[in-house]
Amino acid sequence: MPRPAPRTPAALLAIAPVERRRLQSRLLRWYRRCARDLPWRRTRDPYQVWVSEVMLQQTQVRTVEPYFQRFLAAFPTIRRLAAASIDQVLLAWQGLGYYSRARNLHEAATIIGRTRPVRWPTDADAWQALPGVGRYTAAAIASIAFDQPVAALDGNIRRVLARLAAVREPADAPAVQARLWRLAQNLLDPAAPGDFNQALMELGARVCTPRAPACRTCPLRAHCRAARAGLQQAIPVRRPRRAAPQVSALAAAIRHDGRYLLLRRGPRGLLAGLWGLPMVETPGPCDATAAALRRAVRPLTGLRVRSPRALGTVSHVFTHRKLTLTVFECALADRRAALSAPAPEAAWLAPAEFATRPLSELDRKALALLGAEARHALQQRTAPAAAVLA
Ligand code: SF4
Repeated sequence: MPRPAPRTPAALLAIAPVERRRLQSRLLRWYRRCARDLPWRRTRDPYQVWVSEVMLQQTQVRTVEPYFQRFLAAFPTIRRLAAASIDQVLLAWQGLGYYSRARNLHEAATIIGRTRPVRWPTDADAWQALPGVGRYTAAAIASIAFDQPVAALDGNIRRVLARLAAVREPADAPAVQARLWRLAQNLLDPAAPGDFNQALMELGARVCTPRAPACRTCPLRAHCRAARAGLQQAIPVRRPRRAAPQVSALAAAIRHDGRYLLLRRGPRGLLAGLWGLPMVETPGPCDATAAALRRAVRPLTGLRVRSPRALGTVSHVFTHRKLTLTVFECALADRRAALSAPAPEAAWLAPAEFATRPLSELDRKALALLGAEARHALQQRTAPAAAVLA
C-alpha cells in the first residue's frame, strides 16, 4: 500500500522578517538587472497590463508578443475594444486559442468602457468581479498597474514557492494552494508589489524551470529548502493526471454554387462564437459514415444533402479531450429548401472568403481539406489583425 505523502509542516510556510527582507531585496535586484524587456513591462497602463495578463494565461511569452502588439494596434484603447464587434475581437485573437478569454475581455471592456471618463477598478476584488478575471489575474493587474500590495500565484510562482518551502504534497491540491497563497502574501514586498510579483514569475519562467532549475545561478538559493535538501527535481509533486478522453465527430462541407455553408456557434461552450462547418459528435470514429452525415445534416441545418464524399480526418487536442473529426464534402440536394440552422448565424462563403470569419484551429484544419484555394485563403488569416480590421 503506498505511504501517504508527508504533510508540509506549517513552520515551513512561515519566514522570519529578516530573511524575508533579504529574499525580497535579492529577488528584486536580480529582476531589475536581468528581466526580459517585454512590451507590457514598459508601461503601467491598466489596459495594456490587463490585455497582456489575459493573453499570457496558458500561453508562452514568445507566442503572446506579436499578438499583443497587433491587438493594441487594432484596439489601442478600451473604448475602441468596447466599440468593436465580437467578430473583430475574435479575428484579432485567432490562433491564440482559449477564445473564452477574448470573449470575456470584450465583455469586460464594454462594462468598464461604459463609464465616462473611464473608471478603472483599482483593487483586486473589483477586478475579480469582471468576466474572465480570476484571482491571479486580478492580483497581477492590481499590483502592477495600481501598486496594490496583493500577491499573485500562477503556475510559475507556485512552483518557485513550493520549492522554496520544500512542499512535499501535490502543489495543485486546494489545501496546499491555499497555503501557498498565504506564503506568497507573506513574502510580498509591499513597497514594490508589481515588480515583486513579476520577479517571481520571471524566476519561475527562466531560472526555477519545471525540469531543469538552475539553482547554481538562482538569486534565492540561500532561501531554498528544496535546493538544500536536493529535492528541487522532485518538487512540485504532481497529482496523477487522467488521460484526456477521445471524442469523434463528423463535419459537413455542404457545397452550393462554389460556396460552403459555415455556421457561427452559439455563445456558450467550446469554440463559442467562432465560425465553422456544421459538426456533430459521433459515438466512435467508425460511426462517422456517409449515412450518419446525411442523418446529421438535416437537424443541424434544415437542409438535405447528396453525394457525400469523405475528404479525410483531422485531429485536435483541446485542454480536456482529443477530437478526431471526419470531414465530408457533399452537395445540396434540394436548392429550394430553406436554411434553418439552430446556430445564431449562417453564411455561404467561397473559399477566398473564409478569411473574413474568425475560425478555430480545428475549423482551419477541417477547411484546409477542401483544396488548394481554401488552404491559400486560410494562410492569409495569419495577416496582422490591424490589417484585417482596417
Ligand atoms: S534554488 Fe533552485 S529550486 Fe530553489 S528557487 Fe532557486 S532555482 Fe528554484
